[in-house]
Amino acid sequence: MARIVVIGAGMGAMATAARLAVAGHRVAVYERAATYGGAVDRFERDGFSFDTGPGLLHLPAVYRDLFAKTGKQSLEQCVELMPVDPASRHIFADGTAVSLPNASRAGVVAALDAALGDGAGERWGDFMNRARDAWDRTRRPLLEEPLRQDWQVLGRDPYPSVRQRRMLRRDRQATTLAEIGEWELAEPRLAALLDSYALSYGLDPRSAPAAAAVLPYMEQTFGSWYVRGGMRELARALYERCLARKVEFTFGAEVTGVLEKDGRAVGVELAGGTVADADSVVFAADPRSLARMVAGREVWSGEDVRPVPDPTPPGRLTVLLALRGGRPADAVHRTVVHSPDAGAEAAAAFGGSHAERPTVTVLRPGDPLTCPDDGHEAVTLTVTVAPQGPVDWTDEALAGRYADDVVEAALRAVPDLRERILWREIRTPADTAAVTAAAGGCVPPPALAGAGGRCLYPSNSTRLAGLHLAGGWAHPGGGLAHAGMSGALVAGLIVEGDGFRGSQ
Ligand SMILES: Cc1cc2nc3c(=O)[nH]c(=O)nc-3n(C[C@H](O)[C@H](O)[C@H](O)COP(=O)(O)OP(=O)(O)OC[C@H]3O[C@@H](n4cnc5c(N)ncnc54)[C@H](O)[C@@H]3O)c2cc1C
Repeated sequence: MARIVVIGAGMGAMATAARLAVAGHRVAVYERAATYGGAVDRFERDGFSFDTGPGLLHLPAVYRDLFAKTGKQSLEQCVELMPVDPASRHIFADGTAVSLPNASRAGVVAALDAALGDGAGERWGDFMNRARDAWDRTRRPLLEEPLRQDWQVLGRDPYPSVRQRRMLRRDRQATTLAEIGEWELAEPRLAALLDSYALSYGLDPRSAPAAAAVLPYMEQTFGSWYVRGGMRELARALYERCLARKVEFTFGAEVTGVLEKDGRAVGVELAGGTVADADSVVFAADPRSLARMVAGREVWSGEDVRPVPDPTPPGRLTVLLALRGGRPADAVHRTVVHSPDAGAEAAAAFGGSHAERPTVTVLRPGDPLTCPDDGHEAVTLTVTVAPQGPVDWTDEALAGRYADDVVEAALRAVPDLRERILWREIRTPADTAAVTAAAGGCVPPPALAGAGGRCLYPSNSTRLAGLHLAGGWAHPGGGLAHAGMSGALVAGLIVEGDGFRGSQ
């Protein structure tokens, strides 16, 4: 039985801890905050309850596997998973609307044909076929195996772009999502649909590799899911699973240093000076803070993937709306209100300023557990924005003005919200930074192949023996599902050693 210290109690950390504990190790988690879950947090007031982090789960298989491997009760016995159908309703800048059914390729094609006409559904369907090829080529090496040492091979884009024949000039092939939109989808609303997936994951469609096509593929194939009571219920279930496996949690315990002896991590030091010895240490937070914890020792070398993807991911602005009056029966769980200019929006979010008309995701879970009674409704609006730093989100007047723009954009498309607002609460990247300790409150997107490896994350093993990385800032990147996968990889590496090549 080895002693393992895990730094942080986010989803990646807890997924790692539960798996290590079930493998027979003694696992101690040190979390600087007063509670578990990290970004998967909740805001409660006057009987309303809101998710302040992710509002939906994709790839639930990752958590099904985690619960199956760490205890007797399945995921579905611990939380109530509900498919979100339609998966999303899109309202484009020209006013066209389309509802996309959940996990139905044929349904999506039919809906797009009906709403946009002119073979739009078929073009999207052909694009999804190419996205499936990219998924099939990268699923295992990118998501299910530790990052290979020759990670540069993942820098080649697996998306089979269509060669665009041009009469007098050179042929061209899409290398970015924006080029797929312009050249392959060749319909402004289909392009906007693709851009909105990129932005929702914190990717700039103008530079995201064509391989990012796997993200809409993943959602449309495996579906979008909501956890009854809010996504924090998933964090609660995982925390309880960890407790059942005798993982020890210490809250209000910030780790300030990783201790090393003879070239190996042998424990951690906490603020206040307490020391916890360990045979292995798992760091499950933003690696930009790791440098000062290891006091100049080599965790990465120049041959490794950069500690943070390029460009640095943006954050999220979330406006929580408490509404009087019940949710209309025909309300949709997720509505995406498109910006008239996604390029300008990306330029703002990735250039450190504001977009005047952002793309707004409106979440209306219709879950009685999130509001005081059926005469009220809890609604969440989310926008991808520049991180804390280039924009000073601690300026309440500025955050308030931007929240006004976000609410106005939502109201233009979902008018039944107007007149019903009782109060609102704003969450900015400054709040995310406070909750997760991620610099600037950045939210890491999933790892992607292509782009020469710019969108990969550091390996789960480091150059300091005994120090591993988990969570959204390590391979295979951010998001609930991907952070969960990091837990399986780190546990495999610790239990089976460096020869671990992923579970079969
Ligand atoms: C506003 C927002 C919206 C999001 N939307 C989505 C979405 O739609 N879909 C999706 O899949 N994902 C989304 N995410 C991302 C997703 O929530 C995370 O990627 C996922 O929860 C994985 O988190 P993590 O394991 O990296 O840990 P984090 O949630 O980043 O938590 C890290 C934890 O480590 C602790 N910690 C840090 N440093 C120390 C230290 N030195 N000592 C002790 N403890 C420390 C922090 O306090 C924190 O609890 C969103 C995140 C945010 C913030």
